[in-house]
Amino acid sequence: MDSRPHAAEQASALGDAARASCRLADLGPKPYLGGGRDPRLQHPGYRFGVDLGGTKIESLLLDHEGTELWRKRIPTPRGDYAGTLRVIAALCNEARDAHPQAAHCSVGLGIPGSLGPDGKVRNANSVWLNGMPFGADLERTLGQPVVMANDANCLALSESADGAGRDAETVFAVILGTGVGGGLVVHRRLWQGTSGLAGEWGHVALPWPRSDWGECPGPKCWCGRTGCIEGFLSGPGLARDAGRTDGDALQTLTAAQSWKPLESTTREICDTSAENAAGEAVDRYLDRLARGLAMVINIVDPEVIVLGGGMSQFRRIYQEVPERWHAWIFSDRPVNTRLLPARHGDASGVRGAAWLGAQGRR
Ligand SMILES: [Zn+2]
Repeated sequence: MDSRPHAAEQASALGDAARASCRLADLGPKPYLGGGRDPRLQHPGYRFGVDLGGTKIESLLLDHEGTELWRKRIPTPRGDYAGTLRVIAALCNEARDAHPQAAHCSVGLGIPGSLGPDGKVRNANSVWLNGMPFGADLERTLGQPVVMANDANCLALSESADGAGRDAETVFAVILGTGVGGGLVVHRRLWQGTSGLAGEWGHVALPWPRSDWGECPGPKCWCGRTGCIEGFLSGPGLARDAGRTDGDALQTLTAAQSWKPLESTTREICDTSAENAAGEAVDRYLDRLARGLAMVINIVDPEVIVLGGGMSQFRRIYQEVPERWHAWIFSDRPVNTRLLPARHGDASGVRGAAWLGAQGRR
């Protein structure tokens, strides 16, 4: 049955949403970074994006419609701060040389990690960036403004711009990978919050914890707390939970110690029967994801929730999680939120970084 509201109700709801988000837009958000207003960021037309990972740097150039004009991937100069700045500047110049009409393109940068309100990098797996004002230094190197965000925010922007959430006014995006993070886009604008914390969904406690499932207090998190959502819903979190009830899986996962074998192992786990211990771990995973997303719906009530990252590839999520989340949502009727996989997959990081340039600054 179609549970979406009638057209008049929808129009009214959209009108309310529009008024609400206008108020939000008037107050902020405040996407990074320092520097002054630059007219090239307001209507740049061409957008250069960089996804700075721990092992590779992905870069591309988009036109104003999101068409990819140029793309290049290079190894990350690990441990070399000045070298990282240098190769990103070289990539940007190479793209501009190939497409001279994009000489005044905006530049956006995505990193796996987070940014402090001061623009300094925190918790990046490219550890040589931590504590450094990488965005400001890249601005000096390039001689132009740079907009910077974490990978979950880039996913949210990319999928909102022309991905799974392209028709939605509000999009909450979640990365379920080696880590877990979230990002919120309202009316195509990234909402980062007054302290740059919006969307840090991975480091809130798993809601409605079950002691019989080992959720109280839950696993110790690298952030210093216990029971964080990331500890349960990351790939390593599922592996740990499966290992607790399946010795063979634990040995396999412990021996692997890297994402790729872990991913293939967890796929095997997801394909096995619910009768075995690994299947039970997957069942707990789906229940935990439903609870975590129900909390998001109770607070934000987004039109679309988009999932990215390695764990997002499991099809059962999209059928079973919406069936389960109703038990935890404060509503006596079905909600309209749609749960969808990322349309652009792994490319959402670099595409979202490019779309950052269209965010401008205030
Ligand atoms: Zn944590």
